[in-house]
Amino acid sequence: MNVVLPWLRPRYRIRLGIASRLAISFIGVAGLILAANLVVQQGILVERTTRVLAPQPAAPVVTVAAAPAPVHVERAPAAPVVSPLLLEEAVGALARVDLVSQLRIKDASAPADAQYRQALAHLNEAAKSVAGSTASVGTDPALRHVRTELSAYSAHASAMLHTADARRAAEADRTALLDRLDVRVKEPLAGAWTIFGRVVSRQTLVELSDDIDSLRHHAEALEAATPISALQVAAISAAEQRVQKTLSANESAFRRGQSDAWYRAMNADLAQLIARREASIQLASDLADQTEAFAHQSDRLREALLKAGRIMAPALEAVAQVATRPSPAASAAPAVSSPTPALARARAAVQTKSVSRMPADSSSRGIIAWASGAAALLMILMCVGIIISTVVPVKRMVAATSQIAAGQYSVRVASGGITEFDTLANAFNTMADELAAARQASLHYQQGLEEKIQERTRRLQELAQRDPLTGLSNRRHLFALLDAAIERARTSGHWVGVLFLDVDNFKYINDGLGHAFGDSVLAGMGQRLAELSSAYGFAARLGGDEFTVVLERTNTIEEIRNLGAAIVAAFQSAMVIEGRELIVSVSVGACAYPIHAQQAGALLKAADMALFRAKALGRSQLSVFTPDLLDLAAAKFATEQGLRRAIDRNEFELFFQPEISGETLEVGLVEALIRWRAPNGELQLPGAFLPVAEQSGLAIEIGAWVLRRAVSAASSWHRGGWPDARVAINVSPRQLSDGQFVPRVAALLAEFELPARCIEIELTESVLQTGPATVAAIHKMRELGVAVALDDFGTGFSSLASLEILPLSRVKLDRSLICGIDTSPRSAAIAQAIIGMCQKLGLDITAEGVERPEQFAYLARQRSMFIQGFLLAHPVPQHELLPLLPIVRERARELLLTSAQGRGDGADITEARTQQSGRAAGARA
Ligand code: C2E
Ligand code: CA
Ligand code: CA
Repeated sequence: MNVVLPWLRPRYRIRLGIASRLAISFIGVAGLILAANLVVQQGILVERTTRVLAPQPAAPVVTVAAAPAPVHVERAPAAPVVSPLLLEEAVGALARVDLVSQLRIKDASAPADAQYRQALAHLNEAAKSVAGSTASVGTDPALRHVRTELSAYSAHASAMLHTADARRAAEADRTALLDRLDVRVKEPLAGAWTIFGRVVSRQTLVELSDDIDSLRHHAEALEAATPISALQVAAISAAEQRVQKTLSANESAFRRGQSDAWYRAMNADLAQLIARREASIQLASDLADQTEAFAHQSDRLREALLKAGRIMAPALEAVAQVATRPSPAASAAPAVSSPTPALARARAAVQTKSVSRMPADSSSRGIIAWASGAAALLMILMCVGIIISTVVPVKRMVAATSQIAAGQYSVRVASGGITEFDTLANAFNTMADELAAARQASLHYQQGLEEKIQERTRRLQELAQRDPLTGLSNRRHLFALLDAAIERARTSGHWVGVLFLDVDNFKYINDGLGHAFGDSVLAGMGQRLAELSSAYGFAARLGGDEFTVVLERTNTIEEIRNLGAAIVAAFQSAMVIEGRELIVSVSVGACAYPIHAQQAGALLKAADMALFRAKALGRSQLSVFTPDLLDLAAAKFATEQGLRRAIDRNEFELFFQPEISGETLEVGLVEALIRWRAPNGELQLPGAFLPVAEQSGLAIEIGAWVLRRAVSAASSWHRGGWPDARVAINVSPRQLSDGQFVPRVAALLAEFELPARCIEIELTESVLQTGPATVAAIHKMRELGVAVALDDFGTGFSSLASLEILPLSRVKLDRSLICGIDTSPRSAAIAQAIIGMCQKLGLDITAEGVERPEQFAYLARQRSMFIQGFLLAHPVPQHELLPLLPIVRERARELLLTSAQGRGDGADITEARTQQSGRAAGARA
């Protein structure tokens, strides 16, 4: 609801709030109520002045003396007989006295009294006339009877009126007492508030007032009634008792509220009232009796008169009727005497209070009805107005709120209407704006968050799929990618090549150069593999130093083999890692989908088997899967199982292969080489089981067995037939890095009482990669007096560094280095250079794997050279060695001779060597 004053421009609109609207409404309603109340109040004032509502004293039944039309009874001259006229007059006078006496009973006023006395005098005169008209009055009994009856009649009338007056007096007293009670109660009530014509006062006073009103009501009936019934007496007595009861029941309240004197006066007046009422009732009863007696006396007088005058009764009846006809003059007689002024005031107050319990008259009721209707209408209008002006904006707000809840932030609530709602609407719109802004901000934030989450997820996914070191796919991702590649190949009909790569001797890099460096090497390898494989497929790191390359869209095993070989070849060129040039060779096993396996897992297993074989072949090897590898794998498994029991079952044997000195042609030392008499009885060469032992962790145990057996053998020869015996023992880098190796050797030498010079250990240059502790161990060996030989020289990549770093006493030239010395000048030149270098370093040199006399002839010409090979002797068991020694010597002599003969100086050389040999034998002896 928008209250707009039409003469005001819109910007001066008066906009009312709920509070002001409600205030206006209630002020309006209150005004109406006030007006109605005033009207009602005013109406009562008018009533008080214009209407007399107090109960009227009972109107006299007959207010006018029932004077018969004045019958002018002219006094006729006395006649000797009773004339009919005289008689008629006398009877009429009697009837008039009967009537007037009744009036006089009710009215004690002077005129009424005069009227009565006049009528009585007239009756006396008329009766005397009747009696006096006869001469024989003194004797006539009839006339005497008239006189007697007349005096009795007068006496009755006098007594009756006396009683009537007494009763009236009693009634007047009672009325006065009642008025006094009434005034005393109603005066305090007159000072009470009046709302809507209703008195607001003490309940006890009102109750007492009601009781008195009730008493007055009964009293009025009493006043009016001449014959008083027992019922009326009981009613008025009950009303009196109610007043008495109310008084005594609320004694303390009245004493407190009014006063003690007030209460005493009330009680005294009530007691007096009751006494007067009782007297009044008694008098009324007496009056009734007397009236009846008076009537009988009247009848007797009338009969006496009639008897005396012998008058016709009918005529008399007529006279009697005339006598009782009301006289118009009598109506003018004053009805009641006016009350005293004090009583009038009290009555007025009482009237006011009494009115308060009466319904208003029709006009005031109309005003009240009009006012009530207007108030109700106003209320309804206000209610409707307030409901509309409240509900409409609330509905608008609710609708807008649900729209906002549904995400429509553009919604706006129309302003206007009640101030509070207008303010609310504005606040709502501001909130909606802020919500929209917040929503926008949160959308931005959410977007950013989602991007971040996506980025994180991507990175997590990458982490989950990528190997963090090399950036290549990890094992898990490899399987997924390989599965996908297989699926593609299945539909396209291509082959998928799987290469399993393993870094040769990576452990030595890791142990020798540190893990950080090892990581850098792996990272470099990963990069190189990624580059190499990108054109055909992808590379992955399985873990450790194991890599996989998957080659897609290939068609033949040859293609796959060539790609694998290219990778092997690529790793034969040096990498620069942390500024260091390094050749890190790899061995590769290869297989292909669909010919070798159908699933990713099976393909990787097949490639792994091929890799095992490649490793067995040596470094930088490639092997393609063949079904027999499955047998090999099974064999490997069987070997491993067998090896675990071999030591306990004493299945290992130690063979010894002599190395002869090129200068003396004597066996300078023997190399201990392990053999395994497998459960099937076959003698296995170390190449068949040592790699398995190495992989399964049995190598240390086996190495310890070899060491003990070799020292034991050397000791037995040293004490037996070969005091200069020297045994070369192969030691794996793992054994050396144990930390316990040197003390163990020392303990064994002590145990077998063998001089340290009687043994020599053979190491491969891979010990360089196991770290400084190993090098320190070698130094300690040397300090012990144990010779140290570098085995397989010329096969590794850092041979020269080994010569510089390790405290060596011998170098063993690998078979591959010397195999071409007799056929290839180039090989001979290399061998010659190495031999020269070792000679310069003061190292002994052993040439391994000498199989041909030409090789022997070439090597025998070198200084400090030892020769080992099948040409001279195969490895033999311990018990065969001592008998073999002279045979080997002889064979060497022959070989030397033959080669010298070939050159033409054979006899001299052989002689010289034989002499050397003889000197040596002599020294031994
Ligand atoms: P290696 O240390 O180089 O041992 C020499 C190997 O060459 C021996 O093979 C020997 O039988 C073989 N050989 C000797 N002369 C010739 C020859 O003229 N022609 C050919 N083709 N081969 C010749 P074997 O006994 O099979 O040993 C193989 C390798 O096993 C050894 O190579 C050595 O590295 C390792 N090995 C053998 N016994 C032990 C051992 O007790 N401990 C350790 N750690 N390794 C051992
Ligand atoms: Ca060796
Ligand atoms: Ca060797």
